[in-house]
Formats: sequence, structure tokens, C-alpha cells
Amino acid sequence: MKIAILGAGAMGSFFGGRLAQAGNAVTLLDIDEAHIDHIRRDGLRLSTDAGEQVVRNLFAQRPEEATESVELIIVFTKTMHTEAALTAASAVLGPETVLLSLQNGLGNAERLSRFATPERVMIGVTTWPADKSEPGRVSSHGNGAIRLMTANGHRTSALDRTVAVLNEANLACRADADVWAAVWEKVAFNAALNSLCAVTQCTVGELTHTPDGESLALKIVAEVTAVAHARGIAADQAHVESNVRDALAHHGSHRPSMLQDVLAKRRTEIEAINGAVVEAAASAGVDVPYTAALAGLVRLVETRTR
Ligand code: NAD
Repeated sequence: MKIAILGAGAMGSFFGGRLAQAGNAVTLLDIDEAHIDHIRRDGLRLSTDAGEQVVRNLFAQRPEEATESVELIIVFTKTMHTEAALTAASAVLGPETVLLSLQNGLGNAERLSRFATPERVMIGVTTWPADKSEPGRVSSHGNGAIRLMTANGHRTSALDRTVAVLNEANLACRADADVWAAVWEKVAFNAALNSLCAVTQCTVGELTHTPDGESLALKIVAEVTAVAHARGIAADQAHVESNVRDALAHHGSHRPSMLQDVLAKRRTEIEAINGAVVEAAASAGVDVPYTAALAGLVRLVETRTR
């Protein structure tokens, strides 16, 4: 399949590398010149539990340099860069091109729908992790999976093809009619732990140093799942609570991406996570004081550091 990865940082490069290794024609589109140059010159160095491999059969260029349309675009920018990236990469978007977002947060379907008809927009969540340590080099350890669906819920042949191509790359993908519950569950988890770590500069494990960390996290989880329920989405609060407790117990030294962004003085995804929940809560008539407070605090931290 002809595939473009739009936003080839940690996740985009990992997915692009795997898809290229499975024999697809993959182009990585990114604005990070150093990363693109390394991949063009030396290939992509991909480190997984199987060791480090160099993937050479992929192209890397800036979005505006791409001239040929592709069958599938996987959007892996941070959420606030989606529209600029898709606008710059307009040449890769043909009339049949499928657009897939596995980004975190809310609003991804709406953002992609400005560029393609609803049956060509696909939304999902992934538990694959990835890190980019230096230009041209990414790693992903452990296992993950992908759940996805067309944004309008229709089962199409394009959906089946997308699932198949991701499975051929050993990315453990399945079509899932309940994808919106999975999206909201991940948002609940991230709204709790990402924002608390970003504000306190605690690692996930350090949130357990007083009872406040878990208590605040669980309050946010309850608020976010209440908003999902008010919108008719069956997000499983107990499941997210158990994931939060598990992360607090076992992901001791992990710095969530929002904390990494604050420390690196970059913009965070707060608007697509806590910010979008607060907006959805207002229209659903649900009170979300903890989620809103954390959104405000992250905005303040972000503004000060940047
Ligand atoms: P990242 O910052 O490593 O990568 C984003 C890439 O987008 C960067 O290389 C950046 O240069 C590029 N970019 C920015 N603006 C662009 C533009 N206009 N055009 C083209 N490229 C542009 O981020 P990531 O960790 O790979 O995360 C990507 C998304 O996946 C986020 O929504 C994140 O929440 C989600 N996610 C991440 C993980 C993870 O483990 N890293 C896991 C699940 C989901």
C-alpha cells in the first residue's frame, strides 16, 4: 500500500518503520529537518524488543515537498499541528485517500473531517508506546494494539484494508464499533496523569508520595467518564481507575508526554485533552471542576515556561 505518515516523530517513525518493513511504500512527512536528513542518509534506526534494525526502504521529506497522492495517511503530529500538517501535505490527499488518526485527545475526527469525506476518516486508539531519542532513531518496547473505526461508524472495505495492512506489519489491529468508549477512556487516563505530572513535575510514581496524587487522578477520571456517559458513550470508569492504579504502582519513573513537553518548553496537548473535556462538559451540563482546574494550571505552566 502507498502510505504517508504525517508527523514522523516517535509514533509516526515507529509505525512508518514497521509498515515499510512489511513491504509497503512508506513516505515519512515531517518538518524536523535533522530527522528527515538522518533518515535519508542513514535510514531509520528502529529499536524494539527484537533489537535495533535499520529501515532503508522508506522516503522522508517535508509535507509540502510531497507530490504524489497515497492510499492511506496516518496522522501522527501532536493534535495542535494536525491542520497545518494536512494543509501543507495537500498533494498526498487524493479523492480516495483514507485519513487515520491514532493521536491522543478529543476532536481528531472533526479535524480530519475538514480534509476528507466521513467514510474516509478513521479514528482509533493505540497502546503501542514509542520514544524518539535522537534524529533518525526511535524505539518501542513491549507490546501494544490498535482499535479503530470509521468516524461515522460504517464498516467499509477501506476499513478492512486499513486493519489488514496494520496487522501485516504486526501492529495488532482490530476494527471496533466501541472505539469511542476506548477514545474517552484514554482521554480520562491522560487527563488525570498527564496533567497532574505536567503541573507538579512528578514522575508517575512520584504521584504516590502523598495520597493526594491518586485521589486527584481518580476524581478527574470520574469527571471525564461522567461527561462521556452524558454523551451516550459507555466509557468504563472502573477500567480506567484500574489502569491509573496500575500505572501509579508500576510506571514509577515514567514522565508522561505532557511533562516532557513542559520540561522541553514545547506546547502541550492540554487543549485536546483536559481542555476538550471541559468544553464537552459545558455542552453536556456536567460539572468538571478538577479537570478544569488542571487545564488552567497546565496553561499557566506552559505559558510561563514558553
Ligand atoms: P512527537 O512529538 O514525537 O512527533 C510529532 C511529530 O510531528 C514531530 O516529529 C514534529 O516535527 C511533527 N510535526 C509538527 N508539526 C508538523 C507539521 N506541520 N507537519 C508535519 N509534521 C509536523 O509526538 P509522538 O509522541 O509521536 O505523538 C504523536 C501523537 O500520538 C500525539 O497525539 C500523542 O499524544 C499520541 N501518542 C503518543 C504515544 C507515545 O508513546 N509517544 C502513544 C500513543 C499516542
